[in-house]
Amino acid sequence: MDVADLPLDDKFVAHFESQGVEELYPTQVAAVEAGVCDGERVLAAIPTASGKTLVAELAMLTADGPALYVVPLRALATEKFEEFDALPGVSVGMATGDFDATDEDLAEHDVVVATSEKVDSAIRNGANWVAALSCVVVDEIHLLDAEGRGPTLEVTIAKLRRLTPDVQLVGLSATVGNARAIADWLDAALVASDWRPVDLKTGVYADDAMRFSDGEVRRVPAGDRGAARALASDVVEGEDGQCLVFVNSRRGAQDLASTLVDEFYATPADVAEELQSTARTATGVELARCVAHGVAFHHAGLASEQRRVVERAFRDRDLKVIVATPTLAAGVNVPARRVVVRDHERWNGSEMEPLSVLEVHQMFGRAGRPHLDPYGEAVVVAESHEVDDVRERYVDAEPEPVRSKLRSQRALRTHVLASVASGFADSRAAILELLDETFYAHQRREGVDGDGGETGDGDAGGEVDDGEDGGIDDVVDEVLTYLDAVGMLAREGQSVRATPLGDLVSRVYVDPVTGASVVEALERASTLPHVTALTVLELVCDTRDMPTVYVRDDEAGQVSDAAMRRRDELARDVMDFDGDYQAWLDSLKTALLLEDVADGMDVESLSEQYGVEPGDVRRSVERAEWLLTATESLTEHVDADLSNVAAVIRETRDELVAVDV
Ligand code: ADP
Repeated sequence: MDVADLPLDDKFVAHFESQGVEELYPTQVAAVEAGVCDGERVLAAIPTASGKTLVAELAMLTADGPALYVVPLRALATEKFEEFDALPGVSVGMATGDFDATDEDLAEHDVVVATSEKVDSAIRNGANWVAALSCVVVDEIHLLDAEGRGPTLEVTIAKLRRLTPDVQLVGLSATVGNARAIADWLDAALVASDWRPVDLKTGVYADDAMRFSDGEVRRVPAGDRGAARALASDVVEGEDGQCLVFVNSRRGAQDLASTLVDEFYATPADVAEELQSTARTATGVELARCVAHGVAFHHAGLASEQRRVVERAFRDRDLKVIVATPTLAAGVNVPARRVVVRDHERWNGSEMEPLSVLEVHQMFGRAGRPHLDPYGEAVVVAESHEVDDVRERYVDAEPEPVRSKLRSQRALRTHVLASVASGFADSRAAILELLDETFYAHQRREGVDGDGGETGDGDAGGEVDDGEDGGIDDVVDEVLTYLDAVGMLAREGQSVRATPLGDLVSRVYVDPVTGASVVEALERASTLPHVTALTVLELVCDTRDMPTVYVRDDEAGQVSDAAMRRRDELARDVMDFDGDYQAWLDSLKTALLLEDVADGMDVESLSEQYGVEPGDVRRSVERAEWLLTATESLTEHVDADLSNVAAVIRETRDELVAVDV
């Protein structure tokens, strides 16, 4: 089937052809046959690089009205925005942050790219563009099982279906154990396939050899260079290929890239110069030095511009090797001849835990560049004694089934409040009715696999792991009691309504626990003699919506001293501290960091003083901007004169917004 045979305007056909897309991939043919161009719901569970974007574009371009493309991460939104924006005559909007687009702007576009949080927030705020949608594409829908994001995604899909019952839903998923269950939940036709545009050989590397599943054994002696360095050097020098190495930490990525510098001398001068000239931290300088030797590291600490330069240079073949943390495997299009998974375990904060099969397969999926490589090859590095175990666990195994994470207080607290506040439910029964339309409820009805057990991982037909008593009702009851106690919901018999405070907390999109703690802190702040930027920053950093910066042992004294010295400015009672002091020091350090950001301290000094990287600073600033906005609205709900606090909040937020991070 050719692109020219599709029910598309000539200008789109010409556009795709100009990109070398003439004949559809078999996966795309299957999606067309399933009705993706005819408004039918489709779930495409197909490997990385098998052409999911075109499937989405076919749905959006043939839809009768505006389309929404939901991405899991802000970083992916930009990539997709650029891709869709290149479609001739298609107007594309993007909604990822709090300050980027108003609802009226969004209503004017043919396609809106948004994170699931932003869609959820738009629905809570009654955005009218949502009800006008005729097509919704959900990218990486297997992330339904991610903590935090997953519940938001499933509740948002349930609400979208309520608002626009006839909407065409298209889910794009990695190959997962229970794609059928997701398709059934969406009432979608399932397109599942292992087809890839370039063959993939997978295996294990141990004892100086790559052992592929097809029986091939290829010797690559590690010597004293270590496995990853030997494997990278082998594919670059021996086969003129490129290599992606996945490791489990930022430090590990940087260290390995730095040793690889001795191996290659490809010098893409302009790329290295671009990075050199924009390097503002020791890490940035090291990145530029590595890149001058054809090697890069890639992790969440890099500035987004640095990441983009690295990704682009790798796609242009200017770089030979990227050593990355697992974040690169999620969605970013950087194929390589060889993928090496050096670390198959990672630190979760308290212990080493194995990566999931799905994650490792997504890393594998980056192997093989269509038209350039005869095939891709991907290996997991193992110790001699664990070869069989690693092969069984990662190479021969099917990915895990996707499991709903909705049954948790944290998820339900926020979604129960939002459902009541935005008019989806006005009683306990109505809340349960809405929740009955989620993936969670579908899985409970069908069993976790919902497809007669195709997963082969021993979980077939098993129940969702949802606690002793199994239902969601008891968690809903706990949550209702909590929301009632903090004055966000009011109950009368069976009926439930949101109070003005509850309504506001839902609209400003914070966890109710954050809303409650901010209100309490604001009450204390109203009595402070000195309200400064630090006052309001500490207030938002000491909430569960703010990821904080870790205080190292050798810093604790210093941060603690700052707390004492500046206690007049803090809403927390430092002298008679109630709670986890160590955790609070992390919050205070984050607030001190943001204070310096607002004062215009450059990234180099921030990095030296706080041990943070540009990527961390950017995330903290974005979060703080959002939470300050929410906090300013909440000042209206405190029974005290907070006009000076509100003014400081506005000032501080404006300073942060003005900083270029
Ligand atoms: P993914 O499934 O990972 O989202 P993409 O949609 O990004 O994959 O496609 C991967 C690459 O394959 C892109 O560069 C895209 O232009 C190319 N591609 C997609 N469909 C076709 C096709 N039918 N013919 C040739 N190239 C294609």
